Amino acid sequence: MTTPVDFGIHAGETLGLIGESGCGLHLGKIVEPADSDALCARPMHPYTQALFAAALPSHPDDQPQERTVAGEVPSALNLPSGCRSHPRCPSAMPVCSEVEPTLQPRAGGGEVACHLY
Ligand code: SF4
Repeated sequence: MTTPVDFGIHAGETLGLIGESGCGLHLGKIVEPADSDALCARPMHPYTQALFAAALPSHPDDQPQERTVAGEVPSALNLPSGCRSHPRCPSAMPVCSEVEPTLQPRAGGGEVACHLY
């Protein structure tokens, strides 16, 4: 049986942690399905990292992490070519606007769809 643990949505980006499974989604595409522990310990996709960085600190005296994603979320009715993340991704490379990355095995288990890996 799975138990909902956390579910966050931020302007078209979603991070779901349900029981022992988690995944990062961006504009309707799963970009990082992985075991929740692995995902929390080492988010690899830039948008999964941004979603973790956007989370409120666990203590009011803790400083929030600096946001690394700027710009507007693309329209879901007119998705960008290649990787849907490329217009706002701080790690984007030329290939990112041309080729949509597919899910590949990620270190620590699970998969990640990003040309960085
Ligand atoms: S494929 Fe490129 S644009 Fe997409 S998340 Fe990875 S580095 Fe960023």
